[in-house]
Amino acid sequence: MADYDIVIRNGQVADGSGKSLFAADVSIKGDRIAAVEPPGTLRSDNEIDAAGRVVAPGFIDVHTHDDTALIDNPAMAMKASQGVTTVVCGNCGASAAPFVRPDIGHFLSLIVKKKENIAGSFGEFAGKVEAARPAINGAFLIGHSTLRMNAMGEDLGRKATASEIAVMRDLLDQSLEQGAIGMSSGLFYPPAMAASTDEVAEVAKPLGKWGGVYTAHMRDEGDDILKSMDETFEIGRRAGAPVIVSHHKCAGRSNFGRMKETLPKFSEAMKSQEIAFDVYPYVAGSTILRKEMLDRADRVLITWSDTVQGVAGRDLSAVAAEMDCSIHEAADRLQPAGAIYFMMDEKDVQSALAHPGAMIGSDGIPFDSHPHPRLWGTFPRVLGHYARELKLFPLEDAVRRMTSYPAQRFRLASRGEVRPGFYADLCVFDPATVIDTATFERPISPASGIDTVLCNGEVVWRDGKPGGGRGGRVLRRGEV
Ligand SMILES: [Zn+2]
Repeated sequence: MADYDIVIRNGQVADGSGKSLFAADVSIKGDRIAAVEPPGTLRSDNEIDAAGRVVAPGFIDVHTHDDTALIDNPAMAMKASQGVTTVVCGNCGASAAPFVRPDIGHFLSLIVKKKENIAGSFGEFAGKVEAARPAINGAFLIGHSTLRMNAMGEDLGRKATASEIAVMRDLLDQSLEQGAIGMSSGLFYPPAMAASTDEVAEVAKPLGKWGGVYTAHMRDEGDDILKSMDETFEIGRRAGAPVIVSHHKCAGRSNFGRMKETLPKFSEAMKSQEIAFDVYPYVAGSTILRKEMLDRADRVLITWSDTVQGVAGRDLSAVAAEMDCSIHEAADRLQPAGAIYFMMDEKDVQSALAHPGAMIGSDGIPFDSHPHPRLWGTFPRVLGHYARELKLFPLEDAVRRMTSYPAQRFRLASRGEVRPGFYADLCVFDPATVIDTATFERPISPASGIDTVLCNGEVVWRDGKPGGGRGGRVLRRGEV
């Protein structure tokens, strides 16, 4: 009886590969899956009954800003409650390490709340994450904007010089050696807007040597999106790195329907280059409050403001009416602030989700006072709303897009499948009821239908609350 630490009995296994559900017991010993065998054949003193439930690999949230949330908020309930067992951090050009400047600065303060959480080297930062004993795993990208701030200080409105590029490249090289899994860029954001294609491609060179990935919040997701795709693919080719385009969208009403252009372009490029993208299942995005973004959004909700209290969760237009000024003027008065922008077409979101190159990333922002609901709802929403209700793809394929496929693309070894020898990152959920409950009005709300979540063999979510397990790890590049 004591051969296994845990047996999950009588479930239907979605093993992550995309193949049809099959009935099996899954046993766990230590941090690994020990066996996957016909129902009734495996026993343990500690059994979890999964009758009527699906047993899937833990989900991999490929697009997060959880770098220091893993330290400040180690139970990671917003993710564990969705069945997420690994978060890929450091996206959109912003990572908490390596960072050698004395102040956090405004841009980095979006993902770092405490100065003691930044670190001069990736190795030191990884140690801080491990010391916090988070419930779930983190894999880390190094942000190009973070590298820029190290090399160029406040003087970011220009191209980097050759010697600054060398500084950035060396910092990336060191970080990859210490286990970071790749580099992200955010050419859309002020700290990196002035960077040239050549700059990013030169900085990214170490990716090829170490087998790192390149993720991009592209320079333009609106009118010039096709040009930005070309730039992103070129950087990947020159760096010798696989490309992952972040939160793929066609932003702004004038660009609705343009997935008809971008998706075939992805398909074509994928024939000759390793390219994928991630999507979040909502028609609204969220980032800092920027005046340039107001005109292309149908509605703008404030997520936080450092200068005006009581506006989080409210419509910018209502706040502006109260202030008796334009929304542009109101946006100025709220700075620094964050916002949710309704700026996508539902049909576009669905075609992106259904594309063979798509995986799922929440892009949730963990420290917002009134966050976008994707922070708590992304994965159950894909399973419940898009797979079950809209039948956009079979459940097994939804699971594949959240597990084995991202594990392969981000090169996370021995994760993302229910298979003997793989890590025991698992999610047991009810396929009939799983659904997000977080809304734009009430965004902090755990999903329904997620029963039990294990990470490295430890229970991290059970019966609607954190399970107490704190076995999350830093997933380092090249680990098996
Ligand atoms: Zn982004």
